[in-house]
Amino acid sequence: MSELINKDQAYVWHPFTQVQTSRPPLPIVSAKDALLFAEDGKQYIDCNSAWWTILHGHGNAHIGQAISAQYQTLDHTVFAGVTHPKAAEVAERIVQLLPRNFEKVFYSDNGSTATEVAIKMSLQYWYNKGNAKSKFLAIEGAYHGDTFGAMSVGERDLFNAPFEHLFFDVDYLPFPTAENWEVVKAQAAALLATNEYAGFIFEPLVQGASGMKMYDKNWLNELIGIAKQNAVLTIADEVMTGFYRLGTLFAIDQVENKPDIICFSKGITGGVLPVGLTVTSNEIHDVFLSDKFARGFLHGHSFTGNPIICAAIAASLDLLALPETKDKIASICNWQKGYAEKFKNHPKLKDVRLAGTILAFEIKVKDKGSYFSDIRNIAYHYFIDHGMLIRPLGNVFFINAPYCTTKEQFDEIYTVVESF
Ligand code: PLP
Repeated sequence: MSELINKDQAYVWHPFTQVQTSRPPLPIVSAKDALLFAEDGKQYIDCNSAWWTILHGHGNAHIGQAISAQYQTLDHTVFAGVTHPKAAEVAERIVQLLPRNFEKVFYSDNGSTATEVAIKMSLQYWYNKGNAKSKFLAIEGAYHGDTFGAMSVGERDLFNAPFEHLFFDVDYLPFPTAENWEVVKAQAAALLATNEYAGFIFEPLVQGASGMKMYDKNWLNELIGIAKQNAVLTIADEVMTGFYRLGTLFAIDQVENKPDIICFSKGITGGVLPVGLTVTSNEIHDVFLSDKFARGFLHGHSFTGNPIICAAIAASLDLLALPETKDKIASICNWQKGYAEKFKNHPKLKDVRLAGTILAFEIKVKDKGSYFSDIRNIAYHYFIDHGMLIRPLGNVFFINAPYCTTKEQFDEIYTVVESF
């Protein structure tokens, strides 16, 4: 084992890992564009964009320069009672990109805090209005992060079993499919009519962590509509889907009924620094206005609104606005469509599915394919041995590579997939 691995094994506790049974981690020492380089000189295509974060590729010069320039100008400041140009600029630009009812941006630290803030905002919105509704509605299989509120509205599974007794009251709609949609709709209508729900939270159009599960935009549109009819706040968790992952700038651009609150993270800085944004309307914001301090939203983090992170967001937005970026994203969507067609009848794969730049497929297994079936490890290491870093969700594998990935690299990825 290398010195790096030895040191890692001695001192580091890794996320989502059963240390006793896992192989040592892959030692990555540098990265450029879509490639990761290991200590021993081997290279890997970053097929999942570093946990779905990296948009423009690793080591993007424009983002790097923006970070460096901001560090020289203003590295950090308290954000309560203070502002700075990059935080104001980014908030204005995000609001301008969103539909009309999004008017105020709240900064936090990552995807979990973006949803945590949305949950707290919804609860306090009703509390301030004197109608302390406290239940939430979510969708089976949901993942909204690992803080307590975010875990509470997520799927109740082995990932959070030790904490479940502390979670608040959440009801789950079955994941909508063509077979059950009418039942799901009726259930949503019945539950939301009870006046008990503070909010309805969902991953729009694609549920990521549950296995890149995709559902129809008309169903989401109807669910948002039902919640709105019943005065339930709707929260779109676009932590994974935002910034062209699904082909459109935001997933909610594909639905007519707009949510009340939207959460961003992951790709918003181009994927290089952690941040969460929770964006909502003036109508919701103004419910927190009062001559009483305690009616305000008393939430924040030491790094809220960090200027270097805001500079990275602004630089990533610059890149996303370039016609060549949009053309490249459109090309990736087309290439993925072609591969989806090609792999539809692959004997070892099933449920090949597509949403914008994401192509997901399941490796056929004899049993139902539990999260921990052996195939997960076998396929993961097969792809690693062939120079592809693809982190699966159970037996679900998916390709959501950075937008700088070339056609040749996509072909390479799918040549390896085909040979599995
Ligand atoms: N929400 C969604 C939809 C996610 O996919 C994730 C992470 O995968 C999160 C929230 C949590 O984000 P983070 O890992 O930055 O806390």
